[in-house]
Amino acid sequence: MTHSEDIKSIKNSDRHFIWHPFTQMKHWADSDPVVITEARDCFLKDEKGRWYLDAVSSLWVNIHGHKRKEIDDAVKAQLNKVAHTTLLGLANIPSAKLAEKLIYTTNKSFAGLMPRLSKVFYSDNGSTAVEVALKMAFQYWIHKRQPNKQQFVGIKNGYHGDTIGAMSVGSVEVFHGTFGPLFIKTLKAPSPYCYRCELKKTHPDCELACLDAMENILKADSENIAAVILEPMVQAAGGMIIWPEGYLKGVRELCTKYSVLLIADEVATGFGRTGKMFACEHESIAPDLLCISKGITNGYMPLAATIATDEIYDSFLGEFSELKTFFHGHSYTGNPLACAAAASSLNIFESDNTLTNMQPKAALLKQELNEIANLPIVGDVRSLGLIAGIELVKDKKTKESFPWEDAIGWKVAHKLREQGIIMRPLGNVLVVMPPLSILIDDLKYLLDSLKKTIIALVNEC
Ligand SMILES: *Cc1c(COP(=O)(O)O)cnc(C)c1O
Repeated sequence: MTHSEDIKSIKNSDRHFIWHPFTQMKHWADSDPVVITEARDCFLKDEKGRWYLDAVSSLWVNIHGHKRKEIDDAVKAQLNKVAHTTLLGLANIPSAKLAEKLIYTTNKSFAGLMPRLSKVFYSDNGSTAVEVALKMAFQYWIHKRQPNKQQFVGIKNGYHGDTIGAMSVGSVEVFHGTFGPLFIKTLKAPSPYCYRCELKKTHPDCELACLDAMENILKADSENIAAVILEPMVQAAGGMIIWPEGYLKGVRELCTKYSVLLIADEVATGFGRTGKMFACEHESIAPDLLCISKGITNGYMPLAATIATDEIYDSFLGEFSELKTFFHGHSYTGNPLACAAAASSLNIFESDNTLTNMQPKAALLKQELNEIANLPIVGDVRSLGLIAGIELVKDKKTKESFPWEDAIGWKVAHKLREQGIIMRPLGNVLVVMPPLSILIDDLKYLLDSLKKTIIALVNEC
């Protein structure tokens, strides 16, 4: 078979046998998909030999670039020993080494802060890391003889994954609205989305207004609330909403004041994305439970962890008969190949000096966004580290949005693809989230293309 016959048959297999995630398959079936055949650094190669800049880090998972030799070698070395054994009743080498590294890393990030994270519970994706945190928080209060603490508080525009518990605490209406009747009980606090703050009419300061609203919820009902769950600093899938200074710290203080656990979902923001190892560091706070996934293996393999404090962990200790065991686990929990990849990826933060080297790129991004902000259909620009959102609006003065059906974000994404850039928007919000290892010239090209594409679109609108 020639290469092109081969690709044709791959496309047929895809069309006939795959149901793609977050995809209207009616349209997919009529499209000619780009088939990624290999990748290197920040670039992806398709079936026709064209190279694209991976501007969304393969959906936010890639940190140090594709095909990193160190990680390839670590996975191969582990593969020579064993690919998978269970963590139910058995230990394995990579999961133990990685857990120690993760605790070392969080101790460094949250040095001097309370509470102290100390125990790693593995699962295999962001949604399960969240489910684990919710179940731990729920059961913790049973052990503390406060079994009424059963509810959760989420924040509007939050996203925590697509399983039922994770959807319940999230609130992105288009994704999750259909499933509302299945949800567990959750209260929703207003989102400190300053550009469109729902409380601005009654209160001039978005951060303080949102903190007040959070306090009212906790004050009214704290004896029934197990935990607040949030995405620290950046609500990612909800539209790259970056929080005002002080909000996160304020919520941490309120959780402590009202005796409610704080779950930080750093699935998107963890591993350097925001310019610090974890986004909580921007406000010098530590959560009671930390959820991590996406960047953990540099996008090599599915892996997640929920990291708990000794206070929570210790409450689960007891005799068999007390039924205090945490009855939760997955077939691939602590997978050795994934753990080996993750440990190697953590080492690269040191060998590449990732967090230092990304700072000029984050500064460039911020500076270029300030220019993009002046364009007619750009309502708001926001960034933290190497995460950015550009919110397109129909009317800059009234902030009127483009209708969902206009798919304005996708128009930009398709035009960028012709210029060799893969970008996936969030509705009307354009997303810039390249690997942290992106070269400054490639970032310049990305931002320049983005600017020109928006300008071209303005002339069409
Ligand atoms: C992506 C994401 C999740 C879900 O992770 P999956 O691996 O897709 O299940 C959870 N929380 C946040 C903040 C995310 O960005």
